Amino acid sequence: MSTPLVEMDGDEMTRVVWRLIKEILIKPYVDLKTEYYDLGLVNRNETCDKVTEQAALATKRLGVAVKCATITPNRQRVEEYNLKEMWKSPNGTIRRILDGTVFRAPILAKGIKSYVQGWAKPITIARHAYGDVYNCIEDAANAGESAFIVITDKNGNELRRKLIHTFGEGGGVCQGVHNTNKSIESFAKSCFSYALSQNLPVWFGAKDTISKTYDHRFKDIFEEVYEKDFKAEFEKRGLYYLYTLIDDVVARAVRSSGGFLWVCKNYDGDVMSDMVATAYGSLGMMTSVLVSPYGVYEFEAAHGTVTRHYYKYLNGEETSTNSVATLFAWTGALKKRGELDGNLSLVGFAEKLERAAIETIEAGFMTGDLIPLFESKTVKAQKLSTEDFLKKIAEKI
Ligand code: NAP
Ligand code: MG
Repeated sequence: MSTPLVEMDGDEMTRVVWRLIKEILIKPYVDLKTEYYDLGLVNRNETCDKVTEQAALATKRLGVAVKCATITPNRQRVEEYNLKEMWKSPNGTIRRILDGTVFRAPILAKGIKSYVQGWAKPITIARHAYGDVYNCIEDAANAGESAFIVITDKNGNELRRKLIHTFGEGGGVCQGVHNTNKSIESFAKSCFSYALSQNLPVWFGAKDTISKTYDHRFKDIFEEVYEKDFKAEFEKRGLYYLYTLIDDVVARAVRSSGGFLWVCKNYDGDVMSDMVATAYGSLGMMTSVLVSPYGVYEFEAAHGTVTRHYYKYLNGEETSTNSVATLFAWTGALKKRGELDGNLSLVGFAEKLERAAIETIEAGFMTGDLIPLFESKTVKAQKLSTEDFLKKIAEKI
């Protein structure tokens, strides 16, 4: 390696898995260079969460990061870890600094059946991570009260006013949401760039027939960005961009054989990524990458710190935690680093490691979460411990 990866360590069972992956599958084969940031909750607390910001800034500087799952503290964690403050979600902080889109893709292995029969290829979800109902203002109104949308100029002078509703008997609720042209445009660019990098067609669905200004703006900006910067390359490669209504996309997705990038508005992406992850089998087999429009990448697993397994581990009990998504975060980062540096042997090693992990599962060696999903006429599934599964992959290499 010539350029270091930004390495963001994390919490609980995934911190254990992180160390094992490095010891068993990476360090023996790679002259690993990383800039290490400890995002474990203990160190975030000690540094007053400065370390998260430093790690995100390092990613901007070096270009590629790999992140372990981290605890997002709630009240219970504040007590458990004796925290100075209820620190914010590290992923939220990192996304705010890197301004990106989150892409989630399932990892497929023969024998692990999707709940949707036809889904032979992965469906990747691209979720817009800004605005809509996630930054909304809401209120309740009583009978006789009215709610409006009011637009003012920069001095606060009212320019336009539209009645949302005048509430009758019993009152009701109302909600104000927004998005920005700039965020939608950078979302569109990162979706089309990512699709090209993976050689995937793009499907995008919204509800422009009902939402003639809001959702229609998404449709228009996507169309513009596609025509201007991407159409020629898509056509050259035999790829395409499909825009249709969100309900139509859902129906088409279920009938499809997979193999496309499904672009979702924020709320749709929240819902559909859990649906897609579950349909393909296990959270332990779902990767996640944050791609910023400025060519910066942060790779991670889509699951959390697997707390329940960690307490078993602390008790000295044997665990069987699926490390595949975390391993693919590492291989994704190594591959991307290799690509950017023209280091073909690093790219080749990362690909080999991915193949070894998949072939280990296909040969019947897996962690407990996959056992009930595995179906094969010739291979019998065997449950391995967290560590033995990684050692089995090393044998395969
Ligand atoms: P979780 O860690 O994803 O685990 C939920 C359950 O899913 C586990 O108890 C386990 O089920 C199963 N599971 C998830 N990943 C697995 C794996 N790799 N192998 C085997 N089974 C797996 O979610 P959570 O329990 O809701 O959250 C725990 C902590 O993670 C929280 O503090 C949360 O803040 C944090 N979190 C972090 C991120 C992130 O950093 N990106 C994302 C989500 C949550 P069984 O117990 O039935 O075996
Ligand atoms: Mg969700």
